[in-house]
Amino acid sequence: MICPKCGADNPEGTLFCEECDWRQDMPFRAAKKRNVNTLSLAVLACGVLSVALAFFVAMAGAAVGAVGLIVGGYAINAVRIVKPVNQNVLMVASAAGLLLSMIGFILGFANL
Ligand SMILES: [Zn+2]
Repeated sequence: MICPKCGADNPEGTLFCEECDWRQDMPFRAAKKRNVNTLSLAVLACGVLSVALAFFVAMAGAAVGAVGLIVGGYAINAVRIVKPVNQNVLMVASAAGLLLSMIGFILGFANL
């Protein structure tokens, strides 16, 4: 069977991979790296959405901005800890999302 982690072809019935010792019945996912990608994009989306919403539905803009601020702070920390290969891009995306969220949050309140 094919190892879910490293892709090595192990004999049928092997419990641990002969290459990397991964348990063959455990699904492997490089979850953390994918998560910071998603997280940074989510922050950026929150930021853009909150600024856009602030002009039409002030309350929603402020609410989405608040979410963006919280998730943004978390995302920047997560990117710093995980250190993905595209760290700089994710940092910029998170920071931009954070900034936009702040603008959306303030605009939303100003338009209430
Ligand atoms: Zn393996």
